[in-house]
Amino acid sequence: MSIPRTIKEAAALIEKREASPVELTELFLERISSEDGKINSYITVWEESALEAARKAEKEISEGNYLGPLHGVPIALKDIFVTKDSRTTCGSKMLRDFVAPYNSTVAEKLIAGGSVVLGKNNMDEFAMGSSNETSYFGPVRNPWDTDRVPGGSSGGSAAATTANLCVASVGTDTGGSIRQPASLCGVVGMKPTYGRVSRYGMIAFASSLDQAGPLAKIVEDAAIILSSIAGHDPMDSTSVNLPAADYAGALSADIKGLRVGIPKEYFVSGMDPEVEKSVREAIAELETLGAEIVEISLPHSRYAVSTYYIIAPSEASSNLARYDGVRYTYRCEDAETLRDLFFRSRSEGFGDEVKRRIMLGTYALSTGYYDAYYLKAQQVRTLIIRDFDSAWEKVDVIASATSPETAFRIGEKTDDPLKMYLSDILTIPCNIAGLPGISIPCGFSSEKLPIGLQIMGKPFDEQTVLNVAYAYEQSTKWYEEEMPPLG
Ligand code: GLN
Repeated sequence: MSIPRTIKEAAALIEKREASPVELTELFLERISSEDGKINSYITVWEESALEAARKAEKEISEGNYLGPLHGVPIALKDIFVTKDSRTTCGSKMLRDFVAPYNSTVAEKLIAGGSVVLGKNNMDEFAMGSSNETSYFGPVRNPWDTDRVPGGSSGGSAAATTANLCVASVGTDTGGSIRQPASLCGVVGMKPTYGRVSRYGMIAFASSLDQAGPLAKIVEDAAIILSSIAGHDPMDSTSVNLPAADYAGALSADIKGLRVGIPKEYFVSGMDPEVEKSVREAIAELETLGAEIVEISLPHSRYAVSTYYIIAPSEASSNLARYDGVRYTYRCEDAETLRDLFFRSRSEGFGDEVKRRIMLGTYALSTGYYDAYYLKAQQVRTLIIRDFDSAWEKVDVIASATSPETAFRIGEKTDDPLKMYLSDILTIPCNIAGLPGISIPCGFSSEKLPIGLQIMGKPFDEQTVLNVAYAYEQSTKWYEEEMPPLG
């Protein structure tokens, strides 16, 4: 039996009794132990509890209690979702020994669906980054070329999914952290509408932007995971009171007559010509499939990155105030005064990028600067939302590149935060407006690095976004491209 790559394949093996959940879990654990040293995609591997969950799934299935397509299927979680009985680090020294007393709703729902969690994926510290180089646990490497970054901040989830060290994973996206690594690693990554998935137990970075979503090899798998984690949660007042739909069951590749908007502002200067070429070809393919291509304008897009880098750090500076060395976090040695304890615990526990964000945010929120920065950014946020509102009068979805470039080399941008921030220029608007967005593979560069196509949709219209992605995927099948051996 070859190791399954998708939920669909794994579920079929389980259903036909060709492989048991325990066998599958053992295969993945072996693969992690032999291969993950090359890419560093896990912070913690759950050898024992994964096998225990697999045995439980096996028993339930043999007793006729089949829970659905995730039952017995080995997946992984970004180390931002708190899980009881095992540490949740958020990629930070600050939380390196933190064990939460409860499960995040995302973890709880996946476990309730019978999935086997193999472990917790590496990530940029507190989800701040676009390359997975800010992790306290070391950088993650891109499986297509291990000298390159996998993207971030859900880089461990994207790399583990790509290298098949899990069938699929769940990450989070505040400014592009699911879609950009999915693009750079050649997998599918979806950020649902803000409010679709509960944020309870998902360590907060920027609470008005954060949203969890799947990373998988095929669109159908992403749809299965989304159905499993979506839905109202009384523990998160921003989760909407809408039932989770059966997105995979409703998938349709018929996109005839669907209007696809192409924002002229999204072919940004400095974009890699190979990325632009692949994305233009993908748009042409959508037209061949019967979609109507409409040029649109989102005039305030050019302010999105600056708006994000006021709002996100402001929210982060407030959210991260709780890590004080007093309660559950890293604590410095031999503090002399309370002030010394706060000061040194935070200085030693946080990495440079996190400190930079806290300083930016604290500055933007401070008296005298609040109006000029934070308030102004909120006003521009409204303008960006209105751009999308008027676009939806003309089109059903919007397509663009996910990232203006392919995977860059490890170390290439670490000295230039602004360059790093520009990695998310095409993904950030979607978070600012709270919209659903997906990245799917749409080709490879001449160096055989993956390129991603982004599809954005109307609020709560995940189904149309998935359908367009599915139609494109079915006619191009980029996921069949063979990855070189890890090394
Ligand atoms: N790369 C962006 C940042 O550094 C987005 C991160 C994210 O979506 N979590 O903030």
